Amino acid sequence: MTVVHDVPKQLFIGGGWQDAESGRTLSVDNPATGEELCRVADASPADGQRAVEAAVAAQAGWAATPPRVRSEILRRAYDIIIARTEDLALLMTLEMGKPLAEARAEVAYGAEFFRWFSEEAVRIDGGMMTAPDGRNRLLVTRQPVGPCLLITPWNFPLAMGTRKIGPAIAAGCTIVLKPAPQTPLTSLALAAILKEAGLPDGVLNIIVTTDAAGVVEPLLRGGQIRKLSFTGSTGVGRILLAQCADTVIRTSMELGGNAPLIVFDDADLDTAVEGTMVAKMRNMGESCCAANRIYVHTSIAEEFATRLATRMAALKVGDGTQPGTDVGPLIDMAGRSKAHDVVCDAVKRGATVLTGGELPEGPGSFYPPTVLTGITPDAAINDTEVFGPVAALLTFDTEDEAVTAANDTEFGLAAYLFTQNLDRALRVSERLETGMIGLNTGLVSNPAAPFGGVKQSGLGREGGRVGIGEFLEYKYIAIPTG
Ligand code: ADP
Repeated sequence: MTVVHDVPKQLFIGGGWQDAESGRTLSVDNPATGEELCRVADASPADGQRAVEAAVAAQAGWAATPPRVRSEILRRAYDIIIARTEDLALLMTLEMGKPLAEARAEVAYGAEFFRWFSEEAVRIDGGMMTAPDGRNRLLVTRQPVGPCLLITPWNFPLAMGTRKIGPAIAAGCTIVLKPAPQTPLTSLALAAILKEAGLPDGVLNIIVTTDAAGVVEPLLRGGQIRKLSFTGSTGVGRILLAQCADTVIRTSMELGGNAPLIVFDDADLDTAVEGTMVAKMRNMGESCCAANRIYVHTSIAEEFATRLATRMAALKVGDGTQPGTDVGPLIDMAGRSKAHDVVCDAVKRGATVLTGGELPEGPGSFYPPTVLTGITPDAAINDTEVFGPVAALLTFDTEDEAVTAANDTEFGLAAYLFTQNLDRALRVSERLETGMIGLNTGLVSNPAAPFGGVKQSGLGREGGRVGIGEFLEYKYIAIPTG
């Protein structure tokens, strides 16, 4: 595959491509075949430290670079990404599994963070006011927080990177990016694009490693990193928050979800089924916003289940590079086992399988689109993020019951509701304990919107007008009025 061949396979440090000091490499595999695509340098803690040194060395110069210059680099990178949509989409399909059509959509979505933050880079503002007692003028400015560590997961190899790199570059921060070891190629390709777009050496550094815990902890404890932006599981997020507490590092945390989706009896059923397909099946269900618990009003539950199962059963599962594929493989065999375990547990406790639910034969970590009804309250799926193409249907009778069940989780990232009653839509939206709500839609992600969660789904927001603020500090200067 030339797209794989063309991607640099080394660590990106100080603007140059370098082998790991140990000479070690890690394997990047194609989840559709289980075969190795290529090998990439596998960083040790010493390599991580070199990347931090490069970011620290570049920080002062980058902070002093005019916002317009930072903006235009991002904008050029946006143009290059769009021009290379086909190559980047294929690269993501090969290393992560999603069908090409979804990979193309991710290129557009991921690139948009660069365009959006190229526009935000030149709008960083401050303020000036007179103190209430009249004695001082208060001049407020905003400055980059400093060298940042960005840690990303494998499910959206491009967009999870651009969503953090875009605002960091716009704000004038330098970066050490640690992508997930399953999908490093897209990040390495992105580094090459940013270099081509004119990003100065040292502003972005990339370390890929199989030893995330061993490499990251000393960097957080070393006192040079001023900000951590992490997207991943709540378990790892907790560990990183504890490490950041010791050196009081600012954090943005995009953690796990357990999204409820509620279909009321006054919903438009076509819209609800379509929206559920998107909320459940985008990215094979491997999204932290994926609908995990689907609550349907008892009066329409049977019809909804039949329609959803028909749609799910008609999806074509296969290699994402092949035309017509709707559902690619899950990221790896461990991901597939986790989804299957949750299904088996639900069935053992009394759930019914309307479609799917069986492990396929053959290579690749494929799992069939699955619909379950009759989920019991003790089933693991109620509080396990499935991260797979499994729709768990539950029923409810009253609005109160639905809201209480939806909120009965430690997570609070996204929720979806389907209703044509405006009063109910607003009332329920206000009561749902989540950072984002899809109202009669199954898609909430948008670079122009503040993405993030409440409760144990995270801290801070990415994207929107507030996204750049995660990478800026306020400074105020007191000036006597004299
Ligand atoms: P997932 O289950 O989706 O892989 P993780 O939270 O395990 O989610 O991984 C998200 C990112 O966090 C990846 O880049 C992974 O390498 C990294 N990671 C995992 N464990 C640690 C750790 N202890 N310290 C730092 N980063 C970690």
